[in-house]
Amino acid sequence: MSGKLGEIIAVSAPSGTGKTTIVRSILNEFPELVFSVSATTRKKRENEIDGVHYYFISEEEFKKKIEQNEFAEWEKFYGYYYGTLKKFIDDTIHEGKSVILEIDVKGALAIKKSYPNAVLIYILPPSFEELVKRLKNRMTESALDLNKRIERAKMELSLKDKFNYFIINKDLNTAINEAKILISKIIKGVNTDGNKSD
Ligand code: 5GP
Repeated sequence: MSGKLGEIIAVSAPSGTGKTTIVRSILNEFPELVFSVSATTRKKRENEIDGVHYYFISEEEFKKKIEQNEFAEWEKFYGYYYGTLKKFIDDTIHEGKSVILEIDVKGALAIKKSYPNAVLIYILPPSFEELVKRLKNRMTESALDLNKRIERAKMELSLKDKFNYFIINKDLNTAINEAKILISKIIKGVNTDGNKSD
C-alpha cells in the first residue's frame, strides 16, 4: 500500500433518475471500488442481502448509533432512517481503496462537509417533465407517495449546483458510459475540471 487515501465518490439523484442502475454498472466495471453499505431502518426487499446492500437495523439501534456519533451523515425519509457509517468510509479509504456512496442529495452535501475532498456526482433527468413521467411509469408508489417524491425531486434539483459533476440520463447506456469514464479518471487521480486539487 502506498499510503495514499482512497477517493470518496457520492452518486446522487432524485428518485426515478436511474441512479441505482448506473451505480451497479460502475461497480461491475471497477471491482476495486467499494460500495458504501449504509445502515437503514427500512424493511429488506426480497432481492437484498443484509450487509451487502444495507445493514438492516432497528430504529432503536439506529438512534443509538446517532448518539454514539457513528454516522458521517444520516437522513430520515418516508418514515425510515438511512445513514452512512463513518467507520466504513474511514477504514476503506485508509486501506487505499476508493468508496462509492449511493445516497440522497442532502446526504452527499453533508459528506462533502465532513470530507471536503469527496467528489459529488449528480445524475440529472433530461427534464423535470421526463422525471415526473418516469416516476409515474414506475407505478410503485401510491398517488400520495408520488406527490411527495415529486416535491422532494424539486428540492433536490435546486441543490444541483453544489455538486462537482453532472451526468444527464437521457439514454441509459450513454449515461453509464459517461459515468464509467468519469469514475476511471477520478480513481486514477486525473484532474478533470480543476475542482479537485489532488
Ligand atoms: P431505497 O430505500 O430505495 O434503497 O433508498 C431511498 C433513498 O435513500 C435513495 O435516494 C438512496 O440513495 C438513499 N440512501 C441510501 N443510503 C443512504 C444513506 O446512507 N444516507 C442518505 N442520506 N441517503 C441514503
